[in-house]
Amino acid sequence: MTLAGLFLEELEALVAEWGEPAYRGRQIFDWVHHQGVLDPSEMTNLPVSLRQRLEPMRSTEVRRLSSADGLTTKLLFRLHDGQEIEAVEMNTRTGRKTVCVSTQAGCAMGCVFCVTGQFGFARNLDAGEVVEQVLRFNSAERPVTNIVFMGMGEPLANYDQTLRAIRLMTHPRGMRLGARRITVSTSGVVPAMRRLAAEGLQVGLAVSLHSPHDQLRSDLMPINRRWPIAEVVGAADHYADVTGRRVSYEYTLMAGVNDSDELADDLAALLRGRLCHVNLIPLNPNEDVSLHAPSTDRALAFEARLRQAGISATIRVNRGRDIQAACGQLRLAEKKGRPLPLGEGRGEGRSSAVTAPSPALRATSPTGRGVAV
Ligand code: SF4
Repeated sequence: MTLAGLFLEELEALVAEWGEPAYRGRQIFDWVHHQGVLDPSEMTNLPVSLRQRLEPMRSTEVRRLSSADGLTTKLLFRLHDGQEIEAVEMNTRTGRKTVCVSTQAGCAMGCVFCVTGQFGFARNLDAGEVVEQVLRFNSAERPVTNIVFMGMGEPLANYDQTLRAIRLMTHPRGMRLGARRITVSTSGVVPAMRRLAAEGLQVGLAVSLHSPHDQLRSDLMPINRRWPIAEVVGAADHYADVTGRRVSYEYTLMAGVNDSDELADDLAALLRGRLCHVNLIPLNPNEDVSLHAPSTDRALAFEARLRQAGISATIRVNRGRDIQAACGQLRLAEKKGRPLPLGEGRGEGRSSAVTAPSPALRATSPTGRGVAV
């Protein structure tokens, strides 16, 4: 675990083992989590000998791309063992700054519309590697205000490190982020959703649904075979009951796959009376996944149908398309050695093939692209 993954008490114990007073641990925690300094050589109030014993940050920046409007920035990091992960910063003109973090290198869930899902799973990130992603974007002038766990990986499949990262981000001596400003996204790991409800945290929960029908959802998201819709929605209801927080359902719109009026009606029937909101996300364009977004008119019609049925729903604007801001896209471009936007250089590496949708899905959707974060 690197510095960014250690709690105050753990740092105090660590420096005590080295014969240093406990307050040195507090100084280190302050440097990392309050001031965002990850390089021990810059911790100027520590003795040089102590600075030299501290392990520096684990990640190095491989690419930094900003969207044309300057509001979205994406970082590609290389970790100490060569794994690559992504994090995205999304700003609004009103001062809100949301960082989307990854919790795993790759992902085992295999959702057919997701570039990351096609890489397979490499390993879990530790809490320090998650917190570092946020600290890279945090600054005194423009502090991070919101965190979404919607980057690479399934956060609830890396439960302990995800929770540890949340507790570090909300630490009163650190970034002091309010738990209500943090959203954890899940593909529907039901036991972990129920466990999260019992943590006494006020973090938001976003559930990737993408279909109101088990057959189609299983085609899109293999995890549905393990925990079908009824169990996922039941766990989401439980989360809302326990925390009092409205659950978000993420619904990535894919043309000809899950964007029909009939499915909108069935989705409304499924969610009617539940404390929830539906985020409709037109699929981000990506040539590596054979699915694509519906027209704007179709997306608006789907949203209108939900609203007419009394379901709270909005279409999420896809941000940073020009910098491949969807989960896994930049990493794939780097691996494939594709030209990057904004005149960036070319990466090296092998091609990464993307599997085709299942036969049942292919029957209804012959073409398409990637997913929005
Ligand atoms: S959508 Fe999320 S859970 Fe599904 S494969 Fe991609 S990263 Fe994993």
